[in-house]
Amino acid sequence: MKQRTFSVRALALILALLIAEPFSLLAQSSPDLPDPGSPSGITREQQIQVGQQAAAEVYKQMPVLSDSSPVTRYIQELGRKLESVIPSDRSWPYQFHVVQQKEINAFALPGGPVFVNIGTIEAADNEAELAGVMAHEMSHVYMQHSAKQAGKTSTLQGLAGILGAVLPGNAAGNIARLGIQLGAGTLSLKYSRSDEAQADAVGAIIAYKVGYNPKGMADFFQKLEAQGGSGPQFLSDHPNPGNREASIEKEIQNWPPKNYQTNSEAFARAKQESNGIKSYSAQEIADGAKQGAWAQQNQRNGAIPPNVPVSSNSGNSGNSGGSPAASGGSITNVSLKDVRPSSRFKQYQGNNISIAYPDNWQVNNGQSGLLIAPAAGVSEGGIAYGTLISGGQDQNAQSLDQATQDLIRSLQQQNQGMQQSGSISHIQVNGTQGRSVYLTGSSPVTQNGRPLPERDWLVTLPASQGGLLYLVFISPDKDFNSLKSTYQKMLRSLQMR
Ligand SMILES: [Zn+2]
Repeated sequence: MKQRTFSVRALALILALLIAEPFSLLAQSSPDLPDPGSPSGITREQQIQVGQQAAAEVYKQMPVLSDSSPVTRYIQELGRKLESVIPSDRSWPYQFHVVQQKEINAFALPGGPVFVNIGTIEAADNEAELAGVMAHEMSHVYMQHSAKQAGKTSTLQGLAGILGAVLPGNAAGNIARLGIQLGAGTLSLKYSRSDEAQADAVGAIIAYKVGYNPKGMADFFQKLEAQGGSGPQFLSDHPNPGNREASIEKEIQNWPPKNYQTNSEAFARAKQESNGIKSYSAQEIADGAKQGAWAQQNQRNGAIPPNVPVSSNSGNSGNSGGSPAASGGSITNVSLKDVRPSSRFKQYQGNNISIAYPDNWQVNNGQSGLLIAPAAGVSEGGIAYGTLISGGQDQNAQSLDQATQDLIRSLQQQNQGMQQSGSISHIQVNGTQGRSVYLTGSSPVTQNGRPLPERDWLVTLPASQGGLLYLVFISPDKDFNSLKSTYQKMLRSLQMR
């Protein structure tokens, strides 16, 4: 009888457990996607917006297959499959596209656009490997790694991004602040090793849920490392967090076994079709980007999705005459006559400062600073002419010199190719001792498709409570001397409260 009582109790316990946690007994530790958390200082909508701005750059810099290509259709189908296992309340508007590039690479932009090179499809030995790479990219978006990284930069670095970000929708600064670097024909994202480990772990769950062996991704990365050669950009964007293979093995060891799918006919077909598509080397893509070839090709092929803000005149260069044409990335045909400052000055009165400025220029009081500029001198792509005024705290700096140096470094990180020109000198602004230094860089104004050299005059001043106020007077180098007296007059009128 005692024995019998025990059995009944045991059965009751098992039933209770089954009711409470049916899943844990029936399917042992089947994995779920982790809570992605949320980055500080940037909303979901902003991430999507910046991702679209970055995508617009991609369509200017790289040849992308149109959605009607069978290879793109295959990648989109595979992408949809992977997307289907992500809970919709945590998912993103993923888009999948194929870049006509020989080298092995794939990248994902904040908010969902995923780009896969033809070289990656050709290098994958089976569908599980390709699915693994795509799941890894999608995981960077899911975990919002770029946005979280932007939140980690110091206040001063965040503020330095405003060279591009004062205006709503100003692409260059926003993109740079998310750690995305764009050059001619290349785009790179810098993920940390812990981001990588996370993208591996989350990507493995996505692949597993769809039915692919999660080791496919690790196999692919390992193959890249072993062969070196054509995938260095991929590996520098996605640094190995340690032993990928072993970490994934460990992660999946307690997951219920599955009959994994490794291949499909569709994969074999897409791979074959990709052989017949023209693909380009990184160098060819960089050269084509400089000539605006890809913007035109993508436009012609209808490769650019409707939600991507690429202006219709991008890629045009060298056209002369006519009115200033401000496009998404560059300002063509703007010259001194379009921005020439009036000799009559107005006074701007803000909470912290007042300053005089030419009465035909405009004041834009943005979230992260004050921009005083001629209307024709500013586009979404950047500020070509005008004065940017902002401030911040540099907790690490012990002196104005150090704060100035930190600021220059931050500006350089946010503005590709920016250089200090000459040394930092002392300057008196209405009795306040400040610092003055010149910087050089690339202007958003282009001539024959190339950016003009830019000259920026940076002035830093100590502000209240250990803060720093700074002004950047911006102009293409060739026009700087013509604007210098206006800029000096503005600086002389500056009052801080
Ligand atoms: Zn990665």
